[in-house]
Amino acid sequence: MAVARLTSRDIRSESRLVVMRALLAAGDSTRNELADATGLSLATVSTIVQDLLKYGIVAETGLLAGTVGRPSTGLRVNADRGRVVGVYVEDRYLEATVFDAALGELATIEAVSDEPVQEADDVIDWIVRGLDAALERAQAKRDDVLGVGILLPGGMQRPVKAEPVASAIWLHLDRLRDRLDLPVVIDNPLKAIATAELWLGAGRRFANVVAVSLGFGVGAGIVQDGAVVRGATNSAGEWGHSLLAFEGRRCQCGRRGCVEAYLGVRGVRQTLAETDPGHPLTEGPDTFGFLEALVDAAEAGDAAAIATVERTAEFLGAALADLVAVLNPEVIAVTGWASAPVFHERMMPIIRRRVLADSPGDAAADLAFEFPTRCGMDGIAAIALERYMRDLGLVTTRVIPAL
Ligand SMILES: [Zn+2]
Repeated sequence: MAVARLTSRDIRSESRLVVMRALLAAGDSTRNELADATGLSLATVSTIVQDLLKYGIVAETGLLAGTVGRPSTGLRVNADRGRVVGVYVEDRYLEATVFDAALGELATIEAVSDEPVQEADDVIDWIVRGLDAALERAQAKRDDVLGVGILLPGGMQRPVKAEPVASAIWLHLDRLRDRLDLPVVIDNPLKAIATAELWLGAGRRFANVVAVSLGFGVGAGIVQDGAVVRGATNSAGEWGHSLLAFEGRRCQCGRRGCVEAYLGVRGVRQTLAETDPGHPLTEGPDTFGFLEALVDAAEAGDAAAIATVERTAEFLGAALADLVAVLNPEVIAVTGWASAPVFHERMMPIIRRRVLADSPGDAAADLAFEFPTRCGMDGIAAIALERYMRDLGLVTTRVIPAL
């Protein structure tokens, strides 16, 4: 990809997003407070607020009596400007959440299918029905919708063959757009969790955040210098397929030794099977329930479960230490199974020891860990809102895969 030149328009765009996020974080604020919070000049903030007021994205809340000087006008993000909807879909599960324009959650619906939904038309139909049901629950109309964000693994350049739902949508984006008849943005879950941290989580306090997601898949959403890291083809953050053990376990992706082969749900289960091949928890389907049962067993004194938890905490510590060495974040936000206290307690000292031992300088001296409540759904809603601002000409963000 050619190096894009940053124009003054891009700088204004970035400043608008900075002000928008600062105002969301503050709830209520004033131009002066926003200038303090963002480090931008009062004149710049005033210009930006004027632009945002013009489009109704920000609203004035009236005059506030100041302690010094003349009263100032209160500002807040205009939640009633419209609605944004986030949709998460896999082959048997769908979730749709309606947010107001200040990213406050209004209503959510979940749908489960007994049969896998994989054909493009069926998937698209399911998304449309889910969206309409969520809007109804939120008492919102389609006309109110500023944007829809869909969470989907993979990317335009790289449809994921192993994920039928993702492939079905990536290959039929035009049909999805026509059926929804609303502004749609699609992004992958790693960019969404990074965006959630940037807009609503640790990114409010830190410029360099790594959001680590641990589930069946494993990955990292990266915020560096206050911006989401996407990479040349929007594929940055595939930490789950970086190397933990040379020529190690076979991963779902076909290679050997990936982080995910040790830290995905299946990987943790394999560690248990290697520890105690006949252990009852090695039987049955791979679910999150397995991890809960494993934690319960460890707490009840089951030796193989304790050994598995400890080994897994070591794998996690080692894999996170590499992320820290490469990215030097101020904070790691951990979502997924590792937020269970038993992993937390065990992995912390390991991470700190390894990071301190592995990193030149003081990369981990002040490293913090958070176990956030923010999720990809918040993030995809923020991306949909950002796309709406782009459609208005307020934001020039280059890489948002919008339809
Ligand atoms: Zn892999």
